Amino acid sequence: MPRWTRFGLNRRRTRRDPRLPTPVASPPGEIRLPIPCLVVLVGPSGSGKSTWAEEQFPADQIVSSDRLRALVGTSEFDQRASKAAFQVLDLVVQERLRRKLTTVVDTTGLDDEFRLGLLEAARRRGIACHAVGFDTPPTECRARNKLQARPVPSEVLTAQIKRWESVKHQLADEGFDGVHSPGPVLAVPSDQLTAPALAAAQRKEPVPMRFGLQLPSFTWADSPQATGATLRRIAHTAEGAGFDSLWVMDHFIQIPQVGREWEDMPEAYTTLGYLAGVTEQIRLGTLVTGIMYRNPALLGKMIATLDVLSGGRMICGLGIGWFEREHTAYGFDYPPVKERYARLEDTLQMLPLLWGKGAPSFEGTTFDVPEAMSYPRPLQDEIPILIGGSGEKKTLRMVARYADACNIFGDPETLTHKLGVLRQHCEDVGRDPSEIEVTTLSTVLVAEDRDALEERIEALKPDSMTRDEFVRTVNAGTVEDHIGRFRAFADAGADCAIVNTPDVTHGPSLQAMGEVIEAFA
Ligand code: GDP
Ligand code: MG
Repeated sequence: MPRWTRFGLNRRRTRRDPRLPTPVASPPGEIRLPIPCLVVLVGPSGSGKSTWAEEQFPADQIVSSDRLRALVGTSEFDQRASKAAFQVLDLVVQERLRRKLTTVVDTTGLDDEFRLGLLEAARRRGIACHAVGFDTPPTECRARNKLQARPVPSEVLTAQIKRWESVKHQLADEGFDGVHSPGPVLAVPSDQLTAPALAAAQRKEPVPMRFGLQLPSFTWADSPQATGATLRRIAHTAEGAGFDSLWVMDHFIQIPQVGREWEDMPEAYTTLGYLAGVTEQIRLGTLVTGIMYRNPALLGKMIATLDVLSGGRMICGLGIGWFEREHTAYGFDYPPVKERYARLEDTLQMLPLLWGKGAPSFEGTTFDVPEAMSYPRPLQDEIPILIGGSGEKKTLRMVARYADACNIFGDPETLTHKLGVLRQHCEDVGRDPSEIEVTTLSTVLVAEDRDALEERIEALKPDSMTRDEFVRTVNAGTVEDHIGRFRAFADAGADCAIVNTPDVTHGPSLQAMGEVIEAFA
């Protein structure tokens, strides 16, 4: 069993009240499409394709052969403009695929070569391609056609209907990522595609998993005056929501992946000292401490002190660091990767000596500690050590040799792969892989239901991003979406999901996350 669980510090979860209604999964008929996606409509004239597309997608995502005829020719009915319209359509689709934009192709889709060409183009760009088939009764198509100002000639429509009768039976076998009947569309980040079924499985037979909250940004309202108060409020809300652990990054300058370099980035261990004082149960650590920032014995001493002051709640996160700019800015050494790995390995060997009995002498390849001693000694017999990173040759090997936990980011498939590599390293060094706590890191935006989610997306989306981009970047989803999403991580072998959220100062969002956590209790 992973070492974290032995302490049982945060085992105070309650099960969901069985009297509460179980939230329903997505409504029947709902079409979940990944962001981005190429959507190919298929059906004869009058089957309702354009009407459905206009109801379900923003106008800018729809590429219609009729509209393009009007653009390159005289009107939507200008058949002589067809060739040019399809040339433009092809160009538009290629360009949008290249830019990874969701695109709906509104043509009859009945030409095999054209339809399969679209599928292949999406494949080449690694973009999902779904078909929507419009199986409207022929009499209905004809009736609607007659009502049009410029009906399609009846023999043309007859030919389309005939074609559709044959195409509809082959669509399912053409290799599309999904073939659907028209219905309400929900565009979701790709790892939420199977969420409803997985959430139902989790509700029925829960798989346990712990959750951690990471704070990568401190750019909050009224900072820095209110930073202390806001941090305390977040920590309390996180404890109440059932998070087991709270993590800060160890950076001195905000990293470019998160914000601008002049944004607030308080020092990690002083921040953890404050958090130790204002919380009672939640575990605390860095994700992760760069190995060059502090003298390693001093680092061990700081963590031992925090372990005592927090009542035994510290986790020691370590990594080789990567943000050269900040080393340079602060005058920290930044030797080549190989040497940083050597220093990490020395530190991993030295820390247990420093935290253990007596004052043994440590001689490493990169530094010495003549008297590795720390009084007070940590409260925990062994402070859990987490190594950040998923480098397959060195980092995961060090995890197998020295660590109590790893931290891997990426989707469940990536996790499955990395854990396979880790298992192999464990076998090589004679380590039981089940002793290693597997943690993941991802960004989420969680809200109670669709309406609340839309409100938070609207509130948080920067002007520089489209809604879809933002939804995908922050993994926006409802409680049920995230229960399904995290179930996939649990199935892939995660013991603990560490999350960050752009909505961390918004109480209801952390509370919604609490409902997700409850489903994994
Ligand atoms: P398309 O040729 O497949 O693109 O079909 P349209 O979406 O242009 O629809 C053809 C006609 O049928 C239009 O006049 C629509 O208003 C009408 N129509 C489309 N969908 C429906 C539907 O679900 N019910 C009814 N009653 N009419 C529809
Ligand atoms: Mg149409």
